[in-house]
Order: sequence, then structure tokens, then C-alpha cells
Amino acid sequence: MGPLLIYQIVNTFRYETKHTRPLIRLREITSFKEAHTVHATWDEAADQVKKATHIYQEFYSRLAVPTIVSKRPDWDKFPGADYTMAVDVLMPDGKTLQVGTAHHLGDNFAKTFDIKYEDAQGEQILAQQTCYGVSERCIAALISTHGDNNGLVMPPEVAPTQVVIIPILFGSDKEVLTACSNVADTIKQSGLRVVIDDSDTRPGAKYFKWELKGVPVRIEIGPRDLKNNSVVMVKRTGGKTSIPIDEIVPQINKTFKEIHDDLFNTADQLLHSRIRLCSDLDEVMDHVKSGIARIPWCGEQTCGLEMEEIVGTGILGTPEDHTLGKGDGACPICGKPTDIIVLMARTY
Ligand SMILES: [Zn+2]
Repeated sequence: MGPLLIYQIVNTFRYETKHTRPLIRLREITSFKEAHTVHATWDEAADQVKKATHIYQEFYSRLAVPTIVSKRPDWDKFPGADYTMAVDVLMPDGKTLQVGTAHHLGDNFAKTFDIKYEDAQGEQILAQQTCYGVSERCIAALISTHGDNNGLVMPPEVAPTQVVIIPILFGSDKEVLTACSNVADTIKQSGLRVVIDDSDTRPGAKYFKWELKGVPVRIEIGPRDLKNNSVVMVKRTGGKTSIPIDEIVPQINKTFKEIHDDLFNTADQLLHSRIRLCSDLDEVMDHVKSGIARIPWCGEQTCGLEMEEIVGTGILGTPEDHTLGKGDGACPICGKPTDIIVLMARTY
């Protein structure tokens, strides 16, 4: 018997007085993308939760945003869930942003709402459920992770405009404008999103405008380039090269891959450089000012709550990645030896 899988996009109105933040804490969540699944067994539902967090990690890696998956501590799980897995992103200010959650609901809701299925023997069995979702926060994560002092930096795959063509004109140069239009057609026909900026402003002002919008690749075409059958390609992330006109599409696609990999690797290195194993809570208190602290924990709720109280920030949970979530140490509260490592960070 296969599981029941339901996907929906919903609006949610947050009824609370806590102050709001654009894209991060909205009064009205306009597109919460959520899944609800129903399974025959607890293990099957657990597999679905794992699959969900991996789908989210894959989704965020396509935004070039590295993530950490953690099992939230029991006191911080979704009310009514057996457990909650969460996907977190490190923001440039050192705080983490929860950008996705997946909850194993066990048969807790099935008991309350009498949700049963008939098994092969004709028995009525309580169903096992999960639910998971992401919201507009993915856009906040994207903007904050990649943006720089010149504005947005969009990963090529999701950039609304992927290529901007700037004619370099000396007077009214019909030949250059025709070449720009031909190049744009070629790029468009390959399925990419391209615009020509032939507005009546200086090239420098145009560069500035399209950099602000985060367009990954800028193509400049002037009379000198045409003479050489080439164009100038400039990456939003830095770097300028001359490429032959008839190789423009493969060159752009190759450059897109480089830009994506550069963005992901830069963000991933920054993330990992800001995760530090701490040996006591003083060190944790100091480190969470700029990043994510790893600290041993015995697994007892009383110790966990006391750690949160002392540090003044929450425990994200035990990371799924064992290179982060395992290690030898002692609980900073009770001193008991443990191999569990939890993450602590300031959060949005
Ligand atoms: Zn302890």
C-alpha cells in the first residue's frame, strides 16, 4: 500500500503582536508551500521526513545556499509531533534562519481525529503522518547569503533576468544595435532570459543599475568588439573576458555553472568557518556573537534548558551530519561524558 501524499500552497495569517520583518517574519505568509503525508508505519513516515529535508537541502543548493539539518530538541519541536527536523541557514550577521521544517507526527493526530486505514488483514489501523513546508524565507536566505555592497547577486538558475546586453555606442551606431539584437535572439532561442538595455543613459549608469538587480552576466558589444567578431562578458561576481560571438551560448552556460559553484562554495566555506566546537559555555557565549557553536550535551532536557538559560540563546538541536553532531566530550552542566554534540546559535 502506497502512502498518501498531498501538496498545497496556502496563505497564513500570523496572529501575534511580535514585530514583523520583511520576508522573514511576515504578518501574512502568502505562499507557504507545504506537504501532508499519511503512511502505514512509523518507519515509513520517518523515511518521508528524511526525504523531505533532503529535498529542501537540494532545493537550497540550487539557490547556492548551504544548509544544516538538525533534530530540534524535544522542547522546541512542533506541538503534537514525535520529533521535528529543521533546515537552518547562517545569515551574514551570525544568526541562523530556519528555512524549512519537517515533522514526524506519529499517530498523534490520527488518534485525535480518528484517521485509520484498513490493512491487508482487514484490520483498522491508526495512520502515521508527517507534514513539512517552506515559505518566502527562502528568498530572504538567498538575498542575504549572496548580496554584496553593489546589491543583489542572483544565482543564474533563478535570476529573473539572466543576461543583460549593453550596446557601447559612439553616436547612433546602427551596426552595433543590430548585432545586440541578433545576439539577444540567439541567447533567447537557447531558452535563457535576456534583455537589451538600449536606454538613453551612459554605459556606467547601466552597469550600476543591472548590478544592483543581481543579473549574473553582462554582455557589452561595441564597434571594436564587432570588428573582432567578439563580445565582452562580465560576471556579476567579478571577472571580464572577451568571447567569440559564435560561442556565446556555450560560454554563457559554462559561466553560469562557474558562478553557481563559486557562490555555493564561498557560502559553504563561510558557514563552516563560523561553526566552532566549544568546550564550555563561556566559549559558546562568545562564539554565538558571530556564528554557530558546537557543544557536548548529555541529552537531558534539564541540562539543555539550563544551557539555553546561561547562554541566552537556543539550542538548534543535534545535526544530522555526524561530522558535526558526534564527538567526545562532557555535558557542561552535569559533567556526564557524552558523544552527542548540539548546535547553539542566535536565531531570527
Ligand atoms: Zn547534562
